[in-house]
Amino acid sequence: MFELDLAQREQQHLLRNLVRLDSAQGPRVTMDGKLVVLLCSNNYLGIAEHPALKHAACDALERYGSGSGASRLVSGNTELHEELERRIAAFKGSESAILFNSGYAANTGVIPAVAGEGDLVLSDRLNHASIIDGCRLSRARTEVFRHRDMDHLETLLRSNTTAPRKLIVTDGVFSMDGDIAPLPDLVTLAERYHAILMVDDAHATGVLGKQGRGTAEHFGLEGRVHIQMGTLGKALGSFGAYVTGARDVVRYLLNTCRSYMFSTSLPAAVCAASIAALDVVVSEPWRREKLWYNRNRLAHGLASLGVSIAPSATPILPLLAGSSDQALQASQEAFTQGIFATAIRPPTVPDGSARLRATVMATHSEEDIDQAVRIFGKLKEKGYFSP
Ligand code: PMP
Repeated sequence: MFELDLAQREQQHLLRNLVRLDSAQGPRVTMDGKLVVLLCSNNYLGIAEHPALKHAACDALERYGSGSGASRLVSGNTELHEELERRIAAFKGSESAILFNSGYAANTGVIPAVAGEGDLVLSDRLNHASIIDGCRLSRARTEVFRHRDMDHLETLLRSNTTAPRKLIVTDGVFSMDGDIAPLPDLVTLAERYHAILMVDDAHATGVLGKQGRGTAEHFGLEGRVHIQMGTLGKALGSFGAYVTGARDVVRYLLNTCRSYMFSTSLPAAVCAASIAALDVVVSEPWRREKLWYNRNRLAHGLASLGVSIAPSATPILPLLAGSSDQALQASQEAFTQGIFATAIRPPTVPDGSARLRATVMATHSEEDIDQAVRIFGKLKEKGYFSP
């Protein structure tokens, strides 16, 4: 039925196929019987297989079983869901927090709850797909501002004064380029134009800020962002997502977010793992330090080879290949030599900007990082990653 479509995708080097890991999330993984360095996981702090998370999940599994059975608002709420929300609110320095089943569910739930027909959403051009889909679902007028371009955002805010509600939404760390949103300017503009500011901290939670609290902590702007969303399945090594904000914001979301109301809640065991993850983020700061050490080692190594990772400022390092074909070939060659970094192609990134998206983990050894540098260097010599 869809053969033609699939054949076209294949011809354009855009066909997706699953690859399979036969071990936990790194730093080295077994794939097809081959041991390789995992360089494309968002398990930034390397805690997805931390004993504390596993034990917490097992205990909760014994007590609450595997499934949560219903939406939070029906019978799918436990003490662990509530404790996790309290812990997230405290971690983020927020009044209140609400859990979602994934970051995708959070963005597609929160944006339509906050902005509806007649309202205005202002969204960065490189925002994550779940934000784009949230904007579409909202039926609000959506204006896309040029990436990190605050003059453009201000022009749009100035020329749209009639909308009852205005929502500015941005990734905190942009997922495919690893650059950071200009939060101080976003806060100023939101305050000046009476807009609600929402930040997606999927890649900032556990990573940015001295305590790993995210983009607002990084800029010293805690308390100035109305809605912060973050995920629990990346640096926190668990699964799910949260939204923090003032008490009334969270109560409003609990009453209006369709992805929250009409979806079975997270299993209690997942919540238990997330609680343990928050403990680890606080008690093992060496992980964040090591993550940044590894990030800088890889960035400097690549720079010394003339491989650009601009505009990255985080552990997400984009190695631009250009065409999808080139990106696939680069990924395949890297794999053959012992590095697993998936080719990222449109529509995940704009046309012509296919890439390897290298992501660093705290648990990579210096040897892992140096091996990656050597292999990317060889690929560069072969003509990949040329400007
Ligand atoms: N926002 C951003 C910026 C992301 O990168 C992602 C995941 N790639 C999501 C939201 C969705 O989060 P989740 O994987 O928990 O659905």
